Amino acid sequence: MNDKMFKQTRFRLTLLFTSLIVVFLISFTAVSYIVVSSLITSKQKQQVTALAEEEYMEHKSDLLNWHNHHQNHLDKGANGQHHLLDYHPERQLFYYVISRNGEIIKGDESFPEIRENILQLINGWNPKNKEIRRETIKLGNGESISLLLSGKPVFQNNTRIGTIYTGINITTQIYIVKVLISVLCVISIIFIGLSVLLGYYMSGKAMVPIANAFQRQKEFVANASHELRTPLSIFQSSLEVIEADERDKLGEFSLQVFDDMKDELRRMTKLINDLLWLARSDANAIELTKEWFLLPPVIDELIRKCRPLAEQKHIKFVTNIQKDMAIYGDKERIIQLIFILLDNAVKYNTENGQIKIAVERDRKNVNIEISDTGIGIPVEQQALIFERFYRADPSRSRKQQGNGIGLSIAKWIVDAHGGTIRVQSEEGKGSRFIVTLPQPAN
Ligand code: ADP
Repeated sequence: MNDKMFKQTRFRLTLLFTSLIVVFLISFTAVSYIVVSSLITSKQKQQVTALAEEEYMEHKSDLLNWHNHHQNHLDKGANGQHHLLDYHPERQLFYYVISRNGEIIKGDESFPEIRENILQLINGWNPKNKEIRRETIKLGNGESISLLLSGKPVFQNNTRIGTIYTGINITTQIYIVKVLISVLCVISIIFIGLSVLLGYYMSGKAMVPIANAFQRQKEFVANASHELRTPLSIFQSSLEVIEADERDKLGEFSLQVFDDMKDELRRMTKLINDLLWLARSDANAIELTKEWFLLPPVIDELIRKCRPLAEQKHIKFVTNIQKDMAIYGDKERIIQLIFILLDNAVKYNTENGQIKIAVERDRKNVNIEISDTGIGIPVEQQALIFERFYRADPSRSRKQQGNGIGLSIAKWIVDAHGGTIRVQSEEGKGSRFIVTLPQPAN
């Protein structure tokens, strides 16, 4: 893990925290809206049905009288004779007693300007028991009025002789709910903004102990590997002395043990060197010394180094590189880089496999391609293999010794040169590592 990963983790924590707050606020706003508006409307609905009942009791007789008085006359139509309408601007309630043929007989209203609209709405509507309709009337000036309507029919000898319609203006209540929701939305947006800041601050705090522990662990690895270097080199030289002086005298079993010790020591030294190298790269203690050098001799030398292991598996090397291919970079590091890739190409290759090394140059870059015919790398793991200590599918690579450090060093070297490294691979068919190193114009 490095700084970039700490930043990514912090970012993810902030995102998680903010998403939770967003979900919470959205649910809170939605629940508030539903609760408040249903509370308000249920109250209004009760009121409008109660009103329907009240007006029915009060004005039923008006309708009956009117009917009895008019039944022997020809209906003359409403004719706009609304002289029986009372006007109460302060009330939000209204009622109309309407005869079977649509004539207003009596009523009480607070907004005559929408009378026609209301009459249109209720025209032909035969309200069932406690039926309520909610309607919105648009006014000419762009405003709208929301109403709850109810009504009760009046019967005489089983024939409907008219209906008493009642209604309430609920525009103000709806307006209050709307304002409430807008205020809640604005508050929610402000809180979301604050939660981003808070989440970022809190995740920063949470990262501190992790970052400290990680730092201590890195220091420990650096110190331990440093401390182990001296005893290991003493072992190394002691083994060399024994080998020079005593090898002939050792029996077959002791010789086997001796060779195993040498192998293990070599592995340990490599691991310790790699760890030390990582520690130094973390501490930015590695400086590149760039120079021009010829690549073919370097590659020949590296192939020679890999040959003993490659021959055990009958692996062939093929190269495609111009003899005079020169490259600008830190020679030591580039040798280390190519060795890591070649070593892997041998390790993860199959019996009788092949390794191809191709180098070519364009105007700006040198491209080094190392392809093998080995076990390949599953697509989902290809992005991860360059991470420190990552080993693709342990069951596949268990047979091969390794610590998952090689490619992270390779990536560090390529990055330090301002280049790129990528992999193309198909499981079971092989892998190709492509390194691109920018070159100065010459
Ligand atoms: P190590 O080889 O020590 O495990 P590396 O960092 O060099 O560590 O490689 C990481 C992982 O990438 C390896 O464990 C292996 O699974 C996979 N890998 C690397 N090179 C190859 C290759 N040429 N073919 C198949 N798998 C590879």
